[in-house]
Amino acid sequence: MQRKVNSLEYHRDTLFVQRCISANCRTEYKIADRLYVCSRCGGLLDIERDDAFDTTQMRELWRQRRSSADTRDRSGVWRFREFLPFAHDDPIVSLGEGNTPLYDAPRSANYCRLPQLKLKHQGCNPTGSFKDTGMTSAVTQARKLGARLVVCASTGNTAASLAAYAARADLVCAILVPAGQVSHAKLAQALDYGAKVLEIDGNFDACMNTIRELSENDSIYLVNSINPFRIEGQKTVAFELAEQLEWRVPDHLVMPGGNLGNSSAFGKGFRELLEIGLIDRQPKITVVQAEGAAPFARFALTSDADFINEEHPKTLASAIKIGAPVSWQKAWRAVRETGGSVITVTEQEIADAKAMIGRDGIGCEPASATTVAGIRKLVREGVIKEDETVVAVLTGHILKDTDYVIKYHNGTLTAPENEQITGTFSNSPVRVAASRDAIAALLL
Ligand SMILES: [Zn+2]
Repeated sequence: MQRKVNSLEYHRDTLFVQRCISANCRTEYKIADRLYVCSRCGGLLDIERDDAFDTTQMRELWRQRRSSADTRDRSGVWRFREFLPFAHDDPIVSLGEGNTPLYDAPRSANYCRLPQLKLKHQGCNPTGSFKDTGMTSAVTQARKLGARLVVCASTGNTAASLAAYAARADLVCAILVPAGQVSHAKLAQALDYGAKVLEIDGNFDACMNTIRELSENDSIYLVNSINPFRIEGQKTVAFELAEQLEWRVPDHLVMPGGNLGNSSAFGKGFRELLEIGLIDRQPKITVVQAEGAAPFARFALTSDADFINEEHPKTLASAIKIGAPVSWQKAWRAVRETGGSVITVTEQEIADAKAMIGRDGIGCEPASATTVAGIRKLVREGVIKEDETVVAVLTGHILKDTDYVIKYHNGTLTAPENEQITGTFSNSPVRVAASRDAIAALLL
């Protein structure tokens, strides 16, 4: 195997395959096969690298690429392209995704009763959510397959992201969203990027079912997180995070759980890093769900039973208002393999944690705040110890859902079961006369 570090390229004869994750199937498919699930048993597919290669200079190569002007090197996803199932000269569809900040959050840490806490803000991606890291790889694959029409079901963030990447790739894009249940900001994004927005009567799960039926049509390429190419791009966040921590993984990695593609991707990313020896252990992956939309948490309590969907998921955290998560098996593998857990938090806990994250100068959407609420709970229960290192993953930007923020701060936020959310850390605007004295009386 030949290495040419100077050209920032790592030449290799890597073979990737798609393989069914079901233990008693494991059917293998070619990487170019256009399919979303196993055609033999319907199981989810994993993309696997079918070789072992020398990784001694990998960290240095990835570091060097950060100062390169090449579009692929500037992307926080494609910078790690040795681990992506593409040829190194495949044309990519990129908006400069990834490279998101890892913040210290002292007020949130104190709120959780921890000496320190870091927040990995995936909401700082081009369309304001973590979806972009998976969309760049999935839309690149769509174009490679010659697709003309890309389609997804979405609670909003996937729609915004796919719409943007499809526009960059000059592909026709249609998105299915639950009518009246998507935040204005997310809808606005999808419209502005030129997607055909189809509002479906029903919730996200109804949209997803419709999508599965549509996927039998060959002229449509389906880009939901069931698509294994989404997970491939998204898994590089684990690489980026490990690099930001100088390859010392945290004890705990905590993230929100909706459709469970993100936890699947983090699990896969850290597993691959461990396999090639770039890290010496995996962080415990903990998934936090909103109490009213928690089929995965219920499953985790009785893991030998069947997975039971939540028919009527309820939460104000619309990004994770999902009752039938398509990637639960992969996410469960990540939680189980790493010794993590799955927990729930209330609407009040989410709202207060979100305001606390805000006090650190970091803005996230409600679903992201399940993490800090969950960490606080796990510290209280003794699952997370004071001397352990913890990273929370924020998945969406504060501007994704400003109605929620305003309502929290003026005391009018109402949870799905009509109970009033208390604005524990509320900060409402003050009407004041346009005079120096009046303002001084208020501030000084
Ligand atoms: Zn199978």
